[in-house]
Amino acid sequence: MLVDYHIHSNFSSDSESSILDIVTMCKMKGIKSFIITDHIEVTSTLYACGLDINEYRKQMEKFSIPVGAEIGWDGTKPIDVEVSKFDYVLFSHHVVDEPIDDKSYISYLERLNELMREFSNFHALAHLDFPRRYHKEHKPFSLDTYDLIKEILNYVIENGKFLEVNTQSIPTYGEPNPSIEILKIYKELGGKALTLGSDAHKVEHIGRGIKEGIEILKDLGYNYIMVLNIGWEMVKI
Ligand SMILES: [Zn+2]
Ligand SMILES: [Zn+2]
Repeated sequence: MLVDYHIHSNFSSDSESSILDIVTMCKMKGIKSFIITDHIEVTSTLYACGLDINEYRKQMEKFSIPVGAEIGWDGTKPIDVEVSKFDYVLFSHHVVDEPIDDKSYISYLERLNELMREFSNFHALAHLDFPRRYHKEHKPFSLDTYDLIKEILNYVIENGKFLEVNTQSIPTYGEPNPSIEILKIYKELGGKALTLGSDAHKVEHIGRGIKEGIEILKDLGYNYIMVLNIGWEMVKI
C-alpha cells in the first residue's frame, strides 16, 4: 500500500504546490493515503513561520483529507501551538551546527532529545538523522551517537510515538532518514510504529522513495506501517 505522510503545500513558504495539485498527483501515483504536513517553525530566526490554522483546516476539509503539520522547534523561544487542531503532528528539529561533522551530529541529537521531550505533544518524530542530508558525503551517524539515538528511540517507543521514515534521501544516497542502521536499532529496542513520508516540496516529488523505503523496511523485518483511517491502524506493507 502506497502512503505519503510528509508533503508540503503552498501553505509552506518553501513550496508552491496547491492542495488540488497534491490531491491530483497522489491519485495519479496511486497513493491512497496521504497527509499534507506544512511547516510551523518556532524559532527566533528568519526561518520562523506559522500557519493560518483555520484556513488550512478549511482547505483540507474541502478535500476530506487529514490535517497534518510539521512542527519545527529550535528551543530559542517558547512553543505554543494548538496541537489538537491537527490529526498528525510531525516533530522536527532543523538546526544543524556548521561545519557538519560528527560533532554537529552529536549536538543535533542532544538538542533533539531535549526538545522532543519538552514539546512531547506529537505523533511522529521526523527525519531523526536530518544533518546527514547536508553532510557533503552524507556520512552516516557513527557508533558514538548510538547511545543518544537509543535514548531518543526509547522515548518514542515508551510514549507511543511513531518513528518517521523519511524517504527524500533515498534517491540521493540510498538510505532513508533515519538510516538502515538506526532502523535496526529501533527494531532491537522493540520499536514497531513507523510512518513513511517523502518530504516533497514539489508535486513531482510526491511519493519519491516510498516504494524503495517499503522494500528497505521489509528487508529489515518490518511488516507494518501506521496508517490513519478513522483512527491509527497498523497496516501490512
Ligand atoms: Zn523537516
Ligand atoms: Zn518537511
